[in-house]
Order: sequence, then structure tokens, then C-alpha cells
Amino acid sequence: MPTIQAYAAQDAQSPLGPFTIERREPGPEDVQIRILWCGVCHSDLHTARNEWKNTLYPSVPGHEIVGRVTAVGSAVTKFKVGDLAGVGCMVDSCGHCPSCAEGEEQYCDNGFTGTYNGPVFGGENTFGGYSQSIVVKQSFVLRICHPESQLAGVAPLLCAGITTWSPLRQWEAGPGKKVGIVGLGGLGHMGVKLAHALGAHVVLFTTSPEKIEDGKRLGADEVVVSRDPAQMARQAGRLDFILNTVAAPHDLDAFLALLKRDGTMTLVGAPAERHPSPDVFALIFKRRRLGGSLIGGIRETQQMLDFCAQHGIVSDTETIRMDEINTAYERMLKSDVRYRFVVDMATLA
Ligand code: NAP
Ligand code: ZN
Repeated sequence: MPTIQAYAAQDAQSPLGPFTIERREPGPEDVQIRILWCGVCHSDLHTARNEWKNTLYPSVPGHEIVGRVTAVGSAVTKFKVGDLAGVGCMVDSCGHCPSCAEGEEQYCDNGFTGTYNGPVFGGENTFGGYSQSIVVKQSFVLRICHPESQLAGVAPLLCAGITTWSPLRQWEAGPGKKVGIVGLGGLGHMGVKLAHALGAHVVLFTTSPEKIEDGKRLGADEVVVSRDPAQMARQAGRLDFILNTVAAPHDLDAFLALLKRDGTMTLVGAPAERHPSPDVFALIFKRRRLGGSLIGGIRETQQMLDFCAQHGIVSDTETIRMDEINTAYERMLKSDVRYRFVVDMATLA
């Protein structure tokens, strides 16, 4: 088996550092990809530090992967050597449960295989995109239609893009709808761009007043500093849908109050500690809904990538070297990311 360079966390306390892993030889259905760029998701940090209490060590995070195909198996029809390709948060699923049959592999009844830290239920650990290459079966590999010059900004679409796209589509963000996006980080800034491109009226909620101008540039029609009760009060009962991307526990009632009757707030942020339980009266008196959403299926991810290519949408990125990852994590914890770190994987060699 080929041995390659990677970057790993060995335990919850230590910084990530160089590590060697093995990748399988491509089987008939497999695509081998040399990784060019890998986005840095807050989930990488939650996992590296075992904040969700399910981390298998050593842990090689990274699930926003773009690269170039270097080998394909004999049965591969979707890709050829030299193509650009992407890999997101999943590399396999059971393929036969109702969710898989509907193309919602992320909700696989038998548990999808994560690009890293999977399969969670038995089996070997998987290693993600903080590495030189990856081998993935073709049905979990995405086509990239963006120009090559935009590749770094495409990487974050594989998680931040699809995680915001899927609920925005589910709840029909579009013309005539007022959509709130909470948190302007990696997910949130993609939420603002995508909701704007879908034609919704976008209201961004941020705890960081210094991000107001960026929020407008990215596509928000209004920006609200969520720590200011007077600004929040002016939004009461106005929104059809809220997408909440915040990575820390906070008061959900403050946002539920902003929904219209029959409005929905979907949580995609996955903090290590629980949110305080929401006020039931905020829900029942206006028949409001509070829900959740997990990434998106492979078919929907391809639709999102194609939409972004057609509309010239990429992530706003700050590119870093692999050995800057620990500093990047610290900055992410301070909400100081504009708006996604992406690792130049050439710096790992
Ligand atoms: P991120 O880049 O760190 O962005 C999170 C943003 O939340 C921050 O930039 C900040 O924005 C806001 N924020 C942070 N702490 C806050 C606090 N205490 N109170 C209020 N707002 C706060 O993280 P990300 O990569 O976008 O990921 C966000 C969360 O989504 C993580 O928990 C991640 O694990 C999860 N996630 C879930 C899925 C899924 O499928 N559901 C997929 C990917 C990631 P402002 O400065 O604008 O306030
Ligand atoms: Zn992610």
C-alpha cells in the first residue's frame, strides 16, 4: 500500500503534526486523487480536540478536498486521469437503506462512512484531506466545473457550501422570502452568498460589528449585530427562515422570536455543549419550527457545485501552509476567519 504524508492529531491536547498514513491501491470502482487544496472546517477542530467525544486517534481531519485524479479503477466511468475532482464529508454509505435510495446518504440508516473519523461503528478509522492523496469510490467523488484558477475557493463548497445549500433549498429560500443567517464564519458566509444568489432577502446576524461591511459585500441586504437587543427587536416576527451556523451554545429564543408564523429555524452548528432548551411558548404561539440539517447528499452536492460554477460562486479564503493549522484553529475559535482557511497541500510535501 502506498505510504503518504499527512497531518494528524495524536490526542485531544497536542497540536497537529506530521504523520505518515497508508492509502489503499485503487480498486475497480476507485478514484485516486492528488489533493491540491483542503478547507478547514470547524468540525475538524471539534474532532481533533475530541469535543464530540467520538474521536478515533490518530486523527487526520479535512473534508473539503479538491485535487486532480491520478489513477482510476477499471470500472470507473465518471472520471479519467487528469480531471479535477472533489471529496466532501462522506466516502461511503450502505447504498440500500431508504435514505441512500433517495440520495440522502448523509442520513444512511446504517451510518455513512465519514471522510475522516469513520466508520464510527466498528471498522477502521478513515483519514481525511490533511494529506497528499486520497482514494474514494467514484459514486462519492464530485465533478468540478469551476476554472482551475478558483480551485482554492471551491474546496469549502464541499462542506460549508452543501451544508448551507441543503437547508436553504429544503425551506425554499428564494424571491419573496426573508432569510436570516446566523454567524459569519465558514458556513455562514456561504449561507449569505447562496441565499443571495437564490434571490432571497438576506439578513445576517453577527456578534462581530467589524464584519458588517463584509456581510453586505458578501450579499446580505441587512446586517444585525446580534448582541444589540434594540437591533434584534426591530427584526421580531419578520423572517421566513433562519439558518443558524453558530459553533457555540447560545440563546435560541432570541432568534425564534424573529420568525414569522410558521417560520423555521434550522440548526447546522454543532457545538460541543448543549444550547439552553428553547422556550416552548416561542414555538407554539406562532406554530414555529426548530430543526436541524446534516451536510447534503452526493446528488445535491453536485447540484450545488454546478450552481456555484454557473454563478461564479466560491468561498472567500485565506490560504495557509499545513504547518499553520494550529494557529488557524486558534483564530477560528476567536471568530477571526475571513472566511475560510484553506490549506495549500503543496506545503505538506
Ligand atoms: P466558524 O468558521 O468558526 O464560524 C462560526 C461562527 O459562529 C463564527 O465566525 C461567529 O460568527 C459565530 N460564533 C462563534 N461563537 C459564537 C458565540 N459564542 N455566539 C454567537 N456566535 C458565535 O465555523 P464553521 O466551520 O462555519 O462551522 C460552524 C458549526 O457548524 C460548527 O459547529 C461545525 O462543526 C458545524 N458544522 C455542521 C455541519 C452539519 O452538517 N450540520 C457541517 C459542517 C459544520 P460571528 O463573528 O459573525 O458572530
Ligand atoms: Zn465540515
